[in-house]
Amino acid sequence: MEFDVLIQNGTVIDGTGSQGYQADIGIVGDVIQAIGNLQGSQAKKTIDATGKVVCPGFIDVHVHSELAVLDGPDKYAPLKMGVTTQLASPDGFSWAPLTGNKFREMQQYLSIFYTDQTIREHTEMSIADLLAVSEGNLPSNIVLQVPHGPVRLQVVGWDDRPATDEEIGQMQRLVREWMEAGAVAFATGLEYEPMRSSDVRELAGLSKIVAEYGGVYVAHQRGYAERVKTGSSETIAVAKEANIPVHISHFTVDEDAAAMVQQGLQDGAEITFDMYPYAAGSSHLLKNLPDFMQVGPPENVLTRLKDPKYRAMMSEYLESHVAPELIHFAAVGEGAPSWEGKSLKDVQEEMGLDLTNAISEVLIQSNLQALMIMHWPEHRVHFLEDTFKHPLHMVSTDGIYIGKRPHPRGFGTYPRVLREYVLKNQWLTMEQAIYKMTGFPAKRFNIKGRGVLGSNQYADVVVFDPQTIADKATFEQPRQDPVGIEHVFVNGHHVIEKGQVHPGNPGRIQR
Ligand SMILES: [Zn+2]
Repeated sequence: MEFDVLIQNGTVIDGTGSQGYQADIGIVGDVIQAIGNLQGSQAKKTIDATGKVVCPGFIDVHVHSELAVLDGPDKYAPLKMGVTTQLASPDGFSWAPLTGNKFREMQQYLSIFYTDQTIREHTEMSIADLLAVSEGNLPSNIVLQVPHGPVRLQVVGWDDRPATDEEIGQMQRLVREWMEAGAVAFATGLEYEPMRSSDVRELAGLSKIVAEYGGVYVAHQRGYAERVKTGSSETIAVAKEANIPVHISHFTVDEDAAAMVQQGLQDGAEITFDMYPYAAGSSHLLKNLPDFMQVGPPENVLTRLKDPKYRAMMSEYLESHVAPELIHFAAVGEGAPSWEGKSLKDVQEEMGLDLTNAISEVLIQSNLQALMIMHWPEHRVHFLEDTFKHPLHMVSTDGIYIGKRPHPRGFGTYPRVLREYVLKNQWLTMEQAIYKMTGFPAKRFNIKGRGVLGSNQYADVVVFDPQTIADKATFEQPRQDPVGIEHVFVNGHHVIEKGQVHPGNPGRIQR
């Protein structure tokens, strides 16, 4: 037997959660041809993996990377962590199908989360247009989700009201188009415009179409932490109403959250969730404002921010909900002063303004392009352990690849879990951690031929050194490559060799 690539003598951890074992892996073309004792086989390229772990490429179920991987400085950041497949449209964010002003407004709304040069050239986008942007330009694979944001915007606009029956029918047709294009789930972000205005009737109505295809309802819920009960009750209501499995994005298992999951399971809901290994979140600064300030297209939001009457209306809310010392700026767009790395408290003091006026000024001067990192209050940090030990948890990065000081999660997550939670803290075995990164997401999201090492599976393979594996990205210097990820293959292409990137685009869109 002759292989294109032979990976010899490694410890194979196959992504199913079962015990690692000594074996060789033979790759031909884009698939794994054989696993076992392959001594004496011929190969065009042989890799000695003695002392190394050989596992499936990691699957990132929640990450804002689908445009960053097309070009720019972070094109290979996910691959350098071992990520070979990512789910698109997290939080229901995407650009299709949208026409006219709606496309331009959505592009503007999302430009805080995405480097979107490739999108900006367009004036509208069909689903096919959007897929054409990615096709052939992907270093790693993409799995589609139906994005609730453009689906609702196209049909209902920015209106803050429930959808009518007729509108739900129209949205269902768009959901079906996405499912026909290969989507595996319906993703929403209920703390973002214009998805915030939807109710259970709409969410379940759209999810029913997804359920017909065996898909999943994926929610950035309407509330986490102190509002987790509100958020999770709604998620579970959708699960029951549409009879669909639910997956909760970036979910931390505190006492209330654990109780909600338990309750949901008892009620017969099928639940999974994801989380990244850092005690800090990241989102746009606008998200801190009361709902009435966030409604509508970006222009309307700016108009309200400039109005002293509106500032007065939100002042009490901001004083009681925002801890300015815990918020640091990740990105602030091009026109604004270089606030990246500074805390909101620093910026507020520099400006000599009270909290409400400082937040308003930052949002106006940055044209709403203020992306923040929100550090957790100290008393919540220990919930990471319960989260990662939970059997329904899988790993995600929630990476956002933009600005001077992005959250390090987009650059360090997978090596960090292996270093800190497996090798150092021993919260998980290596097999359990790798299952949460590969086989579990593949099973949950119906990702065909990936996530497990076996013959005839696609050759998405990572070889890492368990002695040295570690993340290097920090909040101060996030764009630092991890160490210990030695080889990465995507569809049989050797994209990382001895830690070095071979530029190329062997990634595919699952259709
Ligand atoms: Zn989210």
